[in-house]
Amino acid sequence: MIERAARFLIVEGVVQGVGFRPFVYRLATRYGLAGWVRNAGTGVEALVEGGNVQIDAFLAALVAAPPPLASITDVRVAEEPAADIHTFAIVASRSSAGIQPIPADVALCSDCRRELDDPADRRYRYPLINCTNCGPRYSIVNAMPYDRAHTAMQTFDMCTACRAEYVDPLSRRFHAEPIACHECGPQLEVVERNGRQSGEAALARARRLLTNGAIVALKGVGGYHLACDARNSDAVERLRRWKRRGEKPLAIMVRDHTELLHVARVNDAELRLMESSAHPIVLVEQHSRSSVAGAINPGSSTIGVMFAYTGLHRLLIGAESDVPAPAALVMTSANRSAEPTITSDELALRTLVDIADAVLMHDRAIVTRVDDSVSQIIDGVEAPLRRARGYAPLPMKLPFPVRPLLACGADMKSTFCLATGTQVVLSSYVGDLENYDVHCEYSTMIERLCTLWRIEPEVVCHDLHPGYWSRRFAERAYPDLRRLAIQHHHAHVASCMAEHGLNGSVIGIAFDGTGYGDDGRVWGGEFLVADYAAYERAAHFDYVPMYGGELAIRETWRMALAYLRAAEIEWDERLAPVRVPGPAQRQVVAVQAGAHFTAPLTSSVGRLFDAVASLLDLRHVVTYDAQAAIELEALADAGACAPYDFLIAEGEPWRVDVRPTIRAIVDDRDRGTSAATIAARFHATLVAIIVHVCSRLRTERGLNDVVLTGGVFQNRKLASSAARALASRHFAVYRHRAVPANDGGISYGQAAIASARLRSALG
Ligand code: ZN
Ligand code: ZN
Ligand code: FE
Repeated sequence: MIERAARFLIVEGVVQGVGFRPFVYRLATRYGLAGWVRNAGTGVEALVEGGNVQIDAFLAALVAAPPPLASITDVRVAEEPAADIHTFAIVASRSSAGIQPIPADVALCSDCRRELDDPADRRYRYPLINCTNCGPRYSIVNAMPYDRAHTAMQTFDMCTACRAEYVDPLSRRFHAEPIACHECGPQLEVVERNGRQSGEAALARARRLLTNGAIVALKGVGGYHLACDARNSDAVERLRRWKRRGEKPLAIMVRDHTELLHVARVNDAELRLMESSAHPIVLVEQHSRSSVAGAINPGSSTIGVMFAYTGLHRLLIGAESDVPAPAALVMTSANRSAEPTITSDELALRTLVDIADAVLMHDRAIVTRVDDSVSQIIDGVEAPLRRARGYAPLPMKLPFPVRPLLACGADMKSTFCLATGTQVVLSSYVGDLENYDVHCEYSTMIERLCTLWRIEPEVVCHDLHPGYWSRRFAERAYPDLRRLAIQHHHAHVASCMAEHGLNGSVIGIAFDGTGYGDDGRVWGGEFLVADYAAYERAAHFDYVPMYGGELAIRETWRMALAYLRAAEIEWDERLAPVRVPGPAQRQVVAVQAGAHFTAPLTSSVGRLFDAVASLLDLRHVVTYDAQAAIELEALADAGACAPYDFLIAEGEPWRVDVRPTIRAIVDDRDRGTSAATIAARFHATLVAIIVHVCSRLRTERGLNDVVLTGGVFQNRKLASSAARALASRHFAVYRHRAVPANDGGISYGQAAIASARLRSALG
């Protein structure tokens, strides 16, 4: 007789709400093991009993091929005396006060896609099809643990067939909380001014409307979208006008690979990202012969594309129907610029009526707004731009354990963080904190995430900027808590360090548009020598005035005039930024440039990009954040180019003096050098500056780790060539791959810094 052994195991990581228990059940059964499995605290516990060989094989398989959405961080195994049991069971959860990860929304899986297309399946063409491996999660949950009773599905009673699947450990819908079908689940409806239709008729109607150039409002996972045919210029322009978002690019959803390749050039890494469980919008190179409307992304060489991520999207855009539909749809959040995305049916019907010809909705409520995530691939690695659907609020790590903490983030592209121990969750993208509705949503989202995660902050951190709404919120909402003010660019650097688990000091290069400096000036071209607890400003781009203050962010010619004056180049009418404003406005600026006015000073590399775009007559007024820089990157020649001259002014800190660069650009223009070459040489100059400053810091400080962060490093050309140049000089280079390089990553950096400061305060 084979001697029986038993082992007890604890599996940690993302193992709840991802089909882990049925997976363990099936695996144990396959190896003829007895025992049990259950959810407990932060992980899954199991007891297995049987032959030693079988137990070893079971453990190897457990680690080797977990369910697609699971991610195991630790498995602990202990010997147990065998108890002579002979069955395997999934047993009741052991509740615990521990922190449970909140699952993120998951795109339609391949099994569900197959059922959706299978006429023999009982969920054939059911738009809200889902299973243990896919479907809504964070967007529908209002309390933890993540059980159906705590989701927007609580009002739907399961039919007999669904219940049978729900309770069957061998079904792939065992404990799939949002389980639903034609019989028992939410239903589709299309609402128009003069009537409504439901089910298949609603779908057919929506497809026909889209084909005919209409705009359809559509209820997605975490909010409403506005959709129209991406090849219909009139519809796209109508949509853009209503959104009031200037020339900011719109994203599109494509039917399939074939359609994708009609629109864009896509590499393997980009395709994998588009097909990942999050299905984000991915920025890719657009074909010059792509036939989508130019109004989708004027002036940009890239386009944001995604695949259908729910059954509803697939039924709306798919080829399998008698009613034709466009193969590419503009899919943009249903809100006007600066307002939050609409999530309520009532609001959608009330406010979208003036833009949408129809509203396609269903009766599953959206509990928490979650926007589409936006990402890109740089040098084969993901570089997120907006972290929301599919990513948030999955947990990440902090360098040091903390008491329960809230980090309030920045005011633009706002996110916040909650942390306890070394666990941290980064909220999904909230938006720009400049509108009352966004303010309300920001505080509601904090409250809800605190409830879900069952934590009450004891410490709150915020940006140093005295005028930030998020800072005033922290002061007003938590008057009695300990507060930490954290410098913006230090937070950028710390966020990238924490992502990579770096320790010790690094050279942190933070290039962005705006961040409040500890000297009260507008920083944004910073070389910090930093660890988590502290930073020293080792070098920065030399200050130039922002004529007209905030106006200089929108009107790039103002920055060009400031750089021309700094470089002692006369404001001559042959120069585009001098010509554009006209004599009257130029006179106003000339007065501001005089001795009696003090314009705010900035070291921002974002503003330097603006100035160069204006000098090249490329862009004098921007209609969305970073537009000039995006267009300058798109314009730049792909080949290698010689950098322009620059100077490093000694002192503490060193100052990067780009006046020689500005003079050389003006000379190149005079000589008739193409704007594409000048743009490329400007990029090369920034790389040369980075290499120069880093090399000096290595010699003087012995530092070899370089962190590239800040919104400017969303520029692929710059990020990629700077990393390559540094790596070839044997620097270890770190870029963002989990949180955005832009201000969406600030709250995570604040939390990392707070964890270090509070620790050193204790020690
Ligand atoms: Zn599925
Ligand atoms: Zn059902
Ligand atoms: Fe920033």
